Amino acid sequence: MVSLTRSQPSALSSILRQLCPRCRSGRIFRSTIYWGFPKMHDCCPACGLHFNREPGYFLGAMYISYGLALALVFAFGVILWVLTSWRLDNVAIWAVLLFLPFAPMLTFLSRVLWIYLDQTIDPETK
Ligand SMILES: [Zn+2]
Repeated sequence: MVSLTRSQPSALSSILRQLCPRCRSGRIFRSTIYWGFPKMHDCCPACGLHFNREPGYFLGAMYISYGLALALVFAFGVILWVLTSWRLDNVAIWAVLLFLPFAPMLTFLSRVLWIYLDQTIDPETK
C-alpha cells in the first residue's frame, strides 16, 4: 500500500532551498538567496527555531564562506588555465573577477550551512 504522507526533504534539498534545519518547512530567508540581498527571519516561521542564536553567531559562517570562495576561485582558475594559454597572473585576476558575482550568494549559502552545522552539533531543543 502506498503512503500518501509526505516525508521531510533531504538535508541537501533543504539547504539548497534554505529551509529550517529542524522542521524543514520554514524558510530561513524572506526571499531567495540566489538573487539580491535577502533578509533573514529571526525565527523559523513554522517552528520558532532561532536562526541568530547570539551576537556574533554568524562569525563561523565566514570560515565556510572563505572556504567556498577559495574553492570557486580555484575552479575558475583551473578552467581558465585549461581553456586559455594565459599567464598565471592573468588567470588569477580573471578567476577572481569571475568569482565576484557569486560572492553574495556564497555569503548567504554559508549562513545556511552554518545554521545546519550548528544545529547538527548543538541542536536547540525548545
Ligand atoms: Zn523550523
